[in-house]
Amino acid sequence: MRALVVDLGGSHGTCGVVEDTKLLAHEVVDAKGAKSLLEILPEIVRSFRRMLSDLGLTTADCAGVAMGLPAIVDARGGRVLSTRTKYEDATNVDLASWFRAEFGLESRLENDARMALLGESYTGAAAGFSDIVMMTLGTGIGGTAMIAGKLLRGKHSQAGCLGGHLPVLYNGRRCICGAVGCAEAEAAGWSLPLVAKEWSGIATSKLAACTNLNFQQLFEAAAEQDTVACEIRDRCLEIWGVAAVGGGVMKSAQNILPAIQKYLDEHAWTDWGKVRVGAAQLGNNAALLGAVPLLSERF
Ligand SMILES: [Zn+2]
Repeated sequence: MRALVVDLGGSHGTCGVVEDTKLLAHEVVDAKGAKSLLEILPEIVRSFRRMLSDLGLTTADCAGVAMGLPAIVDARGGRVLSTRTKYEDATNVDLASWFRAEFGLESRLENDARMALLGESYTGAAAGFSDIVMMTLGTGIGGTAMIAGKLLRGKHSQAGCLGGHLPVLYNGRRCICGAVGCAEAEAAGWSLPLVAKEWSGIATSKLAACTNLNFQQLFEAAAEQDTVACEIRDRCLEIWGVAAVGGGVMKSAQNILPAIQKYLDEHAWTDWGKVRVGAAQLGNNAALLGAVPLLSERF
């Protein structure tokens, strides 16, 4: 199956053309400033047309369009149910009609983290497994699960959202979702600079010089025995210690996975054996490669 796919994340957007497990072409679309979905749709169209023309293909060579969004998405109904801070108009856009009018193709929508799990299960680290939990760690923390080979969605499309918005501190930081002390508010890309800024002793740390602190800088400073960086890193590892981890932070996988495996070995109630913790393999292409399984799925 050949398909068009667009993956809109928290801070990036990528359009691609896939054929089964192969990514034939992909292009980053500039989504950084875009708050509105309508604003970015024309750019997505241009990107698809450019890639198809370069590949010598037309939309008639494609079976459909798959779209991943950082939102609560009703995949069965093909609707975006709710968004936070990004693409707030998405709930009012009839994307199915729009894709049909623009390309003559049927489309499917899904949450971006679920798309990534579909990709990893189709042709990545989770291939061959039927029961999977994946946590994507980047700007935010996305959690998804697959049980008996089917994505866990639930009546309100929120089932399996295990990671980002589970409270880990009852008196913690206010999260963008409105709750307090979510894992995402304490140990995700967007909250890391805020956590560091208020950390006791931050003025004496290398981290004080980082204007928009990211996890790579945090792990580098910790590796150099910066005391504050070590404290913040260890706290993040504790917070992540409940699931497998994918996403942008996995560039630091060698620092993270052993700590999470150890935490699970010590704390998870699994009489049948040990939970296997593994790094995602497809990186930023995971959601794009989720297109074919999403379009093939029978609801
Ligand atoms: Zn939250």
